[in-house]
Amino acid sequence: MSAPANLPPKEELLNRAEEILKQLEGGPWPSHVSELRKTRYPLHVYGVGLVARKSPWGPAAVKVEFLNTGVLSRWARDWVPGGGSEVHFRVFHTPGKFLRTDFLRKITKISRELGVGLIELVGQTGALVLNLTPETAEAMVDALREIGTDVGGSGDAIRALNACVGPALCEFALYDTLKWYAEFYKDKRVNDNIVTPSYPYKFKVKFSGCPLDCARAQRGDIGFIGVWEGAPEVDQELLGKKIEAGEVDPEKLAANCPSGAITWDKEKKELRIDGTRCKKSMHCIRAAFPAIKPGKKRKVAVVVGGGSKGRFGPKLGWFIGYLEPDQVKDAIDLTFKVIGPWEAEAQPKYRLGDYIMHLGLDKFIEKAGIKLEGMPVSTAKMPDEVPYAVLPKEVRERFLSFAQQLKGRV
Ligand code: SF4
Repeated sequence: MSAPANLPPKEELLNRAEEILKQLEGGPWPSHVSELRKTRYPLHVYGVGLVARKSPWGPAAVKVEFLNTGVLSRWARDWVPGGGSEVHFRVFHTPGKFLRTDFLRKITKISRELGVGLIELVGQTGALVLNLTPETAEAMVDALREIGTDVGGSGDAIRALNACVGPALCEFALYDTLKWYAEFYKDKRVNDNIVTPSYPYKFKVKFSGCPLDCARAQRGDIGFIGVWEGAPEVDQELLGKKIEAGEVDPEKLAANCPSGAITWDKEKKELRIDGTRCKKSMHCIRAAFPAIKPGKKRKVAVVVGGGSKGRFGPKLGWFIGYLEPDQVKDAIDLTFKVIGPWEAEAQPKYRLGDYIMHLGLDKFIEKAGIKLEGMPVSTAKMPDEVPYAVLPKEVRERFLSFAQQLKGRV
């Protein structure tokens, strides 16, 4: 990239960069610049970028022996005085982001001695990222492996897994997300595919203990979400007390149920929930817990094809059926069944969801050989008269009616 227009001479540029950095240290709030000054991060590059109002970084590649993925690197562009580089690893993190203090101490020691003294916990998944220098990269990987972790989870591979805190901290957890996370990590196939990129694009696996979906499993290529069968359980006596105390408004509860499953009998002072209509939104449970709780018969709903990036834009996953909370081994097998046809046939940079849209959900399920309890039965057939249709008929009709409603409103 050519140098931005009107850049001052080198010395003045560096002085102005320093001025901006100092401004960012002012004020009563914590300053990321002050924190970065404690490390060996090339802060002047950041400052120059702020003066130029352009990213000062260009792409680069750093090869670390015996490492196929997980290393990301950038070099300062040639208009940045003094140059500089920024290289970082993604390190395997722990389920629910529980980090033991002894583990953190070891990581900090490695970062200080072999890296630049900077650890980041970033992104939606809370990924553990360590900055390093290319010269010490190999020694750093060895040190990380010695303390029982590894580098991986970037590129076109299975990405670092993500699980909510689940039963360790949360009263809503409907299955053991932490155990599922650990079992997935322990599986050799999963591990191999985290450290070796061989897929058309990235593949994310996420575990959420309930439909509140803190791990955003709906946006994973495969997501596992704790649910229950039928209606939530209502403790009428406790609910009555909450209503008397003014903590719960039963009419509001019924009005806010997204599927209209709740009815409030004023005479009998009884709240009823129709399990066949309940869409597991968690709204009533959150508002009246523990008087309203998830039902006792627990399941794990499986969704596939979600993602915020991809050829056809952001998508929420499609529900494809249920597993039991103890079926984690089947969940691992299912994950590789889902990956199979996508890996074999999808074009480069097609997320699983893009591939499913291209093929149609019914055909994808058939190709992957998936058989699950509660699978959605689709009568939709791809009509011959619509060439290149990527969506089943019923889905296209839903989009069409939505577009017509919008047109009407405009
Ligand atoms: S997803 Fe549900 S179970 Fe998991 S932390 Fe969030 S509220 Fe709790």
